[in-house]
Amino acid sequence: MKSIRLKEGKERSLQRRHPWVFDSAIAKGAAEPGETVRVESHSGQFLAWAAYSPASRIKARVWSFDEAQRIDAAFIGQLIDKALAARSLFDIQSDGLRLVHGESDGLPGLIVDRYGDTLVAQFTSCGTEHFKTEIADALLRATGLSRLYERSDANVRSLEGLPEVTGWLRGEGPVELQIREHYWQLTLNIADGHKTGFYLDQRDSRQRFAVHARHRQYKKVLNCFCYTGGFTVAALAGGAAHVTSIDSSGPALQRAKANVALNGFDESRTTFMDADVNASLRAFIEQGATFDAIVLDPPKFAPTAAHADRAARAYKDINRLAFKLLVPGGELFTYSCSGGISADLFHKIVASAGMDAGVDGFISERLQGAPDHPMTVLFPEGEYLKGLVVVKKP
Ligand code: SAH
Repeated sequence: MKSIRLKEGKERSLQRRHPWVFDSAIAKGAAEPGETVRVESHSGQFLAWAAYSPASRIKARVWSFDEAQRIDAAFIGQLIDKALAARSLFDIQSDGLRLVHGESDGLPGLIVDRYGDTLVAQFTSCGTEHFKTEIADALLRATGLSRLYERSDANVRSLEGLPEVTGWLRGEGPVELQIREHYWQLTLNIADGHKTGFYLDQRDSRQRFAVHARHRQYKKVLNCFCYTGGFTVAALAGGAAHVTSIDSSGPALQRAKANVALNGFDESRTTFMDADVNASLRAFIEQGATFDAIVLDPPKFAPTAAHADRAARAYKDINRLAFKLLVPGGELFTYSCSGGISADLFHKIVASAGMDAGVDGFISERLQGAPDHPMTVLFPEGEYLKGLVVVKKP
C-alpha cells in the first residue's frame, strides 16, 4: 500500500473530517491515478484512506477515516446502499431524483441520477473512475434496475486528466425519457441534455414558484435561462396567465415548448425567445415592459472562488435589470449555482443590484438545492445552489 505524507501542521483539515487533500499540503508520496493511498501526518500517524489523483490540485479524496476499513467492492457497495437509504429520509415529489451526490454521500466525484427506471452516472474523479465497475454493479444491485447511462463529459474531468466518456455502461434503452415532478410531467434526453439531462436540483424551487403563482395570481411572468421550461410549466400549473421564457439554446426551447404542450397548457399562454438574457432584459426596459414575477436561473458564472469577481458583476447586472422590470409588489426568484459565490456574497450582490436600480425589497424566502442534493455539516463546500425570493417594495 502506497502512502502520502503531509507537511507539518497540514493534518488539521483531515482531523476535522474534511475529505480533500490539496497538493500544497503534501510533503512526499505519489501513486497511480485512482489508487488507494494511506494518508499520514508528518509524524507518520494514520489520517485516512484516500483515492490519489496525480493531475488534480486536489491530490487525494478521502474514502474513509477508519484505519481498519478495507477500500474494496464491499465498501463501495455499502456507500451506495447508504446513499440510497438516505433518499427515503427526504421528501421528494418526483420520479426523477439524485441518488448519489458526491462528497455529501461519501463518494467524491460521483453523481447518480435516477429518471424513472433509468440511471445516469457521472464519474468526475480518479477514485470513482478506478471503481467504476464496482460502482455500476452496486447501483444495479441496490436499485434492482438494469439500465445505466454514463455522462462523464463534465469539464472537471480534464482537471483530473480523464477523457470524456458517454454511452450505456449497463443495459440499453431509450435516451428520451419522461418524469413526473410534483403535479406536472417533463421530458428530457439523457444523452444530449445538460448535466445528466435535467436540473433536478431546482425541483423544490419550481414547486415554490407554482405556489406563488397561485397565491399572487401572476399575470405576466418572465422566466430567464428557462432551459427545458421547468419554471415555465410550474408557473402555468400555478395558474399564471402568460409566461415569457428566454434561453440561448434552440434545442432546449423546443423541448420547453413540448413540455408545455405535454401538460395540456395552451401555447397562447406562452412566448419563447431564443435570445441572450441580458440583451433581452435591456430591450424590455426600453419597451417599457413590466412583469409580476421574474425567474433568474443563470448558468454557473463562477465555477470556483477565483472567478467570483467577474461573476459578481454578471449576477449584479441581470438582477439590477430584473428589479427595474418588476411591478411594485412583484416577485424576483433569483439564483446562483456557482460554488465560488457564497450565500452571503450572493445576498450582497443582489443588495448592490437593488441599490443601483433604486429598488428595495423584502426577502420572503431563502432557497437551496432540493434535499436529494444534500449539503453536509462537515463539507460546507457542498453548498452551490442558493436562491432568494425578493418582493419588490410597493
Ligand atoms: N431554470 C432551468 C435551468 C437553467 S440552466 C431549469 O429549471 O431547468 C441555464 C440555462 O441558461 C441553459 O439552458 C443555457 O442554455 C442558458 N443560457 C446560458 N447563457 C445564456 C444567455 N446569455 N442567455 C440566455 N440563456 C442562456
